[in-house]
Amino acid sequence: MSLWLNGIGVSRGIAIGRVQKLSGGDLEIPEYTIAEADVEAEVSRFTDAQARGREQLQQIRSQVPAGIGGAENEIAAFIDTHLLMMEDRSLTDAVVGSIRSSRINAEAALKRQRDALMAVFEQMDDAYLRARRDDVQHVSARILRILLKEERSLPVGEPEAPTEPNIIVADDITPADIILLAQAGVAAFITEYGGPLSHTAILARSYSIPAIVGLHNARRLFKDGEAVIVDGDLGHALADPDAQALSFFRAKRAGQIERRASLSGLKDRPAISRDGTKIRLLANIELSEDATHAADLGAEGVGLYRTEFLYMNRKTLPTEDEQYEAYSRVVASVKGPITIRTLDLGADKQVDSGARSGPTPNNPALGLRAIRLCLKEPDLFRAQVRALLRASAHGDVHIMLPMISSVAEYRQAKAFIDATREQLEREGQKMAAHVPIGAMIEVPAAALAAPLLARHCSFFSIGTNDLIQYTLAIDRVDDEVNYLYDPLHPAVLRLIRMTIEAGDRGRIPVAMCGEMAGDPRYTRLLLGLGLTEFSMHPASVLEVKRIIIESDVRALRAQAMNLLETGDPQALETLMS
Ligand code: PEP
Ligand code: MG
Repeated sequence: MSLWLNGIGVSRGIAIGRVQKLSGGDLEIPEYTIAEADVEAEVSRFTDAQARGREQLQQIRSQVPAGIGGAENEIAAFIDTHLLMMEDRSLTDAVVGSIRSSRINAEAALKRQRDALMAVFEQMDDAYLRARRDDVQHVSARILRILLKEERSLPVGEPEAPTEPNIIVADDITPADIILLAQAGVAAFITEYGGPLSHTAILARSYSIPAIVGLHNARRLFKDGEAVIVDGDLGHALADPDAQALSFFRAKRAGQIERRASLSGLKDRPAISRDGTKIRLLANIELSEDATHAADLGAEGVGLYRTEFLYMNRKTLPTEDEQYEAYSRVVASVKGPITIRTLDLGADKQVDSGARSGPTPNNPALGLRAIRLCLKEPDLFRAQVRALLRASAHGDVHIMLPMISSVAEYRQAKAFIDATREQLEREGQKMAAHVPIGAMIEVPAAALAAPLLARHCSFFSIGTNDLIQYTLAIDRVDDEVNYLYDPLHPAVLRLIRMTIEAGDRGRIPVAMCGEMAGDPRYTRLLLGLGLTEFSMHPASVLEVKRIIIESDVRALRAQAMNLLETGDPQALETLMS
């Protein structure tokens, strides 16, 4: 009998295949005491397992294939993150320390430290950093499996016959496993845990493998070897489909494959709608390597460069010169403008550099984060602003301030940047004559005050990831309230429209850099709301461009205004189809 199951679709596409459950999911971790005389042998058992884990990762890294849409650098960087974490002293020293001081076995000591680190990540208010708790989990699981001699058997080797590809069902999949599984030709992934911002989800998107995460009890509900359809667009999985469902999804998949093949021809075509509206398509990047392949995939520049990466996996703050080098490299590799966002860390992000002392706030998402933290820590902010202004000598740099919630806050940050510029001028440093400064609109208060903010800002960029979380009062990484996270909520759409209108009236450009901008399901709606700059994961650029080229923006605007006024579900359906 057919069975429909729902999770979170994190990588688009349809796959049809047979279930292959990954063994070795939940590890039983024993805890026992070690005799004094055996403590050093236990420490060696741990360090040997760690070395073996490192070798495994290095071997996997060397197998990252070239030619997967330019994503190989991104993928190698993910493995490097795990390699760094595997060697990080906050993991290893504590484990060795507790084997020696508590005289417990290596597995139990590693489990304790893993749980402590995961709890720290869990508290973070930044969704990206919070999703890094998965990395701690994956790295620890690799070492634990080696210690327990329960290494996962992955279906590696030649891809299966295309008629019966495997669909992997697991508790969770590490980025390293994804690489091996992708090489083995698996057709899709279904996992019980994880979220759309996990590295696993990002990698599945890079490999264009359909994936569903957060499908609770998947391993219990699916039978090994049974037929299953995965719809990564909608997050649906259909076990044991009947002939009718099979033919429906085969047709849907064929349509998708055909569309994707036709997209590559759009790379050099301008994004102009049927009725002549020019739209700007930009890339969101995290790592400097991403900048190079953004242009290959048709982006006209970078609309969001998240700088938090520079502050991660290290104990000390990056110096001004170090930041200057890093920004200059990225700026030089981007064709077109690059919007660099100033640091978006929260007060509780103590694991890396940028640490603050004091108690962890109860509600970090509403606490001292992003621009608030930078204004409170002028030395931290000054080093970054100086580096950014100096890097502006090498390209078309724009500086974007995250989490702005009032005109006064924006003006304070702007005055700080102006004063920093004057200081640099006095020192004779080279800079661009004009560096536009803008605000992210991601707090409802900023959207509501957008007409006032527009008098001071050079541009706006709408951060829907946070705007939705703050408007609807739902934690964007909390599984339990995920179902309320609704980009189509009338309140969200109205705030987006108000921001665009305020920008138009104030004659400043308005971009959108939240995930909504790169989701082709919303392209027509956003065009209707008047958006003309979209910044997104580079892999989505061509698909969004195709929709723009086929759209009549004037007609979509009329439909969107009608939707805002009436909230008519029919109007919404027309804009979404
Ligand atoms: C956003 O909030 O939409 C955004 C782009 O920023 P981040 O996801 O980094 O918070
Ligand atoms: Mg944000």
